Amino acid sequence: MAVDNNGAITRLMQEFGRLPGIGPKTAERLTHYLLGAGRSHTLALADALRSVAESIHPCRQCFNLTEGDLCSICSDPRRDPSLICVVEQPRDLAALERAGNYRGLYHVLQGRLAPLENVGPEQLTVDGLLRRVQAGGVQEIILATNPNLEGDGTALYISNLLAETGARITLLARGLPSGSVLEFANNQMLADALEGRRSF
Ligand SMILES: [Zn+2]
Repeated sequence: MAVDNNGAITRLMQEFGRLPGIGPKTAERLTHYLLGAGRSHTLALADALRSVAESIHPCRQCFNLTEGDLCSICSDPRRDPSLICVVEQPRDLAALERAGNYRGLYHVLQGRLAPLENVGPEQLTVDGLLRRVQAGGVQEIILATNPNLEGDGTALYISNLLAETGARITLLARGLPSGSVLEFANNQMLADALEGRRSF
C-alpha cells in the first residue's frame, strides 16, 4: 500500500467498496489502477461522476432518468402514447428497451411496495401514474413489475387503483422464471414476455 498521509486513498477505496458487487480486494485493485493511470484519466472519471450527480434527474412525466425536462422516450413523437409500460426502476426500462420491440411509453415507479420495509404507495410514483391515465388517451397499461412476491403485490395494487379508469391492464407473459428480475432477463425472453402479455 502506498503512503497515505491524508487518507485520500483510503477514502477512495471505501467509496469503491460501497458499490454493488465490489468487495475490498476489487476496491483496492481499482484504486491502485487509478493511482497508476495518470491524472487526466482519474479527473475524467471524477468529471463523469460529477455530471451524473448534478445533471441527471427523473423525467417530469415518466420518472425515467434524464438530463432534460422530459426523457428521450417521452419526447419521441414516434412512441405510442396510448400504451404505458409500468416498471419498478430505470434499469428495468433499459432492459425492456434493449429487447427492442416495445413502442409505447413507460412509467417508472421508483421501487415496489414492500410493507416489511415500510415502502408504501406514497413512496412510489403511483399518483403520477394515476394522473397520466386519468388525463385520457391511455388505452393499455402493461404491468412489468418483477415476477416476485413484492412485484406481484405492486402490480395487484396498481391494477386495483386503475380499475375505474377503464384502461386495459395487462401483465407480461410468464416466460420469465418466477422470482427473477427483469434487468437480468435476456432480450428474447423480454421481447416474448411483452408480445405474449395477457389481461390482468
Ligand atoms: Zn419520460
